[in-house]
Amino acid sequence: MILEILKYPDPFLKTRAEKVEKIDDGIRALVTDMVETMYHAKGIGLAATQVGAGKRVAVLDVPTDEERRERGKHLLTLINPEIILSEGSVVYEEGCLSIPGFTADVTRASKLVVRTLDIEGMEREITAEGLFAIAIQHEIDHLDGLLFIDRLSRLKREMMKRKIRKSLEAEERAL
Ligand code: ZN
Repeated sequence: MILEILKYPDPFLKTRAEKVEKIDDGIRALVTDMVETMYHAKGIGLAATQVGAGKRVAVLDVPTDEERRERGKHLLTLINPEIILSEGSVVYEEGCLSIPGFTADVTRASKLVVRTLDIEGMEREITAEGLFAIAIQHEIDHLDGLLFIDRLSRLKREMMKRKIRKSLEAEERAL
């Protein structure tokens, strides 16, 4: 089932998601719907917070540079993910399905190790770099109630929020 993706400034996007205590049918159904929703929206990642579910769950499918995107090839489910090691720094122009039409340069760690449960409940450690590492940090931020604009300097964030607000107002007038 394709779920509705909440858009900024929906206040739910600011909430911190709760740890998954048990991977039950509800969580499995949520993951299935999130994967479908991510592909439908042509995203490379989606966090449960973005579909109004306050659970620490995210799905990702990040293509590598060398290949064209093949759906499902890099599909990954993160449950209760935790960054246990991060290093380096990288700047990347990020976008977000919850802030459609806007992007900004965001600085993040360039390499990380993440401890997570997979959909079977098995603990895994994933080493990530490049866009994969960026996407993981972006999704974990969602689970902590943060958007990429929250990672900008105060000045840039205020400018961005003003731009978004203006565009939302223009949209409302157009309806
Ligand atoms: Zn996002």
